[in-house]
Amino acid sequence: MNIDDVLAEFGLDATRMQNGSLSVRSPIDGTQVARLAEHSTADAHLAIDAAHTAFMAWRMVPAPRRGELVRLLGDELRAHKQGLGRLVSIEAGKILAEGAGEVQEMIDICDFAVGLSRQLHGLTIASERPGHRMMETWHPLGVVGVISAFNFPVAVWSWNAALALICGDAVVWKPSEKTPLTALACQVLFNRAMEKFGDAPANLSQVLIGGREIGQALAAHYRVALVSATGSTRMGRELSPIVAARFGRCLLELGGNNAIIVGPTADLDMALRGILFGAVGTAGQRCTTTRRLIVHESVADELLGRLKRAYSSARIGSPLEPGTLVGPLIDRAAYDGMQAALESARQQGGKVVGGERRLADQYPQAWYVSPALVEMPGQTKVVLQETFAPILYVMRYTTFDEAVEMQNGVPQGLSSAVFTNDLREAEWFMSAAGSDCGIANVNIGTSGAEIGGAFGGEKETGGGRESGSDAWKAYMRRATNTVNFSRELPLAQGIKFGSDT
Ligand code: NAD
Repeated sequence: MNIDDVLAEFGLDATRMQNGSLSVRSPIDGTQVARLAEHSTADAHLAIDAAHTAFMAWRMVPAPRRGELVRLLGDELRAHKQGLGRLVSIEAGKILAEGAGEVQEMIDICDFAVGLSRQLHGLTIASERPGHRMMETWHPLGVVGVISAFNFPVAVWSWNAALALICGDAVVWKPSEKTPLTALACQVLFNRAMEKFGDAPANLSQVLIGGREIGQALAAHYRVALVSATGSTRMGRELSPIVAARFGRCLLELGGNNAIIVGPTADLDMALRGILFGAVGTAGQRCTTTRRLIVHESVADELLGRLKRAYSSARIGSPLEPGTLVGPLIDRAAYDGMQAALESARQQGGKVVGGERRLADQYPQAWYVSPALVEMPGQTKVVLQETFAPILYVMRYTTFDEAVEMQNGVPQGLSSAVFTNDLREAEWFMSAAGSDCGIANVNIGTSGAEIGGAFGGEKETGGGRESGSDAWKAYMRRATNTVNFSRELPLAQGIKFGSDT
């Protein structure tokens, strides 16, 4: 693992990043790879003011021209996909394929945003008054504050930044304090795109290194028009009242507790693959990780037997080694959280297979685990929580209504899936009476969303939507315009007001 070479690709000198107060460790072996200087709240205020100045100029640049900057950013990302992907692996512990996949997601959202830069459209609406035209127009919003989590250290910034930039906004990004190096690398690529673009205002997208106090500075500042925050539900609970107190806008992408229902007619080969990728991939550290399996009693024994075999052969190891499927947990706190959840599960009647620490001899400062399969008697208290680790709780059901009720019976509402070949079950699952999540899939697992759709979830997941579809509307402000081209001044609702009433 030579991080110096990887950083050098982005013009970052590792030897000059060893004196700050923020210790950055690689979860692969627990070694410290950098000590970064942190920004203060005063720095954050300066960055916000600079972003506001950039916004005032950028908002008047035609949107398709703004798209050109995002196109150039996409080119930089294409050229550095492997290098940035590798840095994601080193800093966040994802296997190489997932690290590169995350950068591909960034490229995809750039492509999407470039096209969108020519389609920021409003409606024309029939006016009730003669000689009047009514329409809506979409305008740039302001400074967008982005707060991101460790587990998607670069993609989340790009989902926000690509849309914000074409929408005419400026961005101030506070990455997770666990993954600041990938953020610095992204800033280098962004700066290169800015140079090639030529005449964009300075400080259009900036990075602030630091912990939650920087996030709170973004939340509290009146000039941050939108705070787009990705992280735990705890973070959302602390942050959103601060933004609400000043009537700012919040876009929240918080925790998930995602379930797959497997019906009696399901293709079990497909279900097995979907469950495995969803539950074990990224060592259970995706917001869309499959955390609950709700399986029909008629197929439960067979599916569970096959799952146990697949779990025991999933290769655990360094994410940089080919063939590894399960990399490390991010840190010791994640490991402790997992062990505490498994202990609660046992006390609540669960039968636990797996969940042990692995590779401790080879990596005494890193936290590798075997993924855990836990058969539960029902959805007990521990199952209702998101534990950010590879734990799959398995529950059996008899009727489909019962399965949907279980799927919806948790506080979070991000992603959900059903494996079934029964058309009625599939349609019911996607209907108003079915899954209550922001994502409801049929014969696909819970994780691995495409950027073309709107991404986000309901209930304690926070209600925000990012990425595709019309998620861009969150990054703009809407004006309703009514134009009177008649010679009269009729009032709406037929109201007569004045001397002739
Ligand atoms: P976290 O909540 O600990 O931290 C996320 C970010 O919020 C970090 O940048 C952190 O510094 C900042 N932060 C924390 N507390 C804050 C506060 N009080 N005020 C302002 N900022 C604060 O989350 P994490 O451990 O980095 O990431 C894992 C969590 O993120 C999981 O719950 C996961 O489900 C969630 N997540 C959700 C999505 C989604 O799209 N819904 C995507 C990725 C991760």
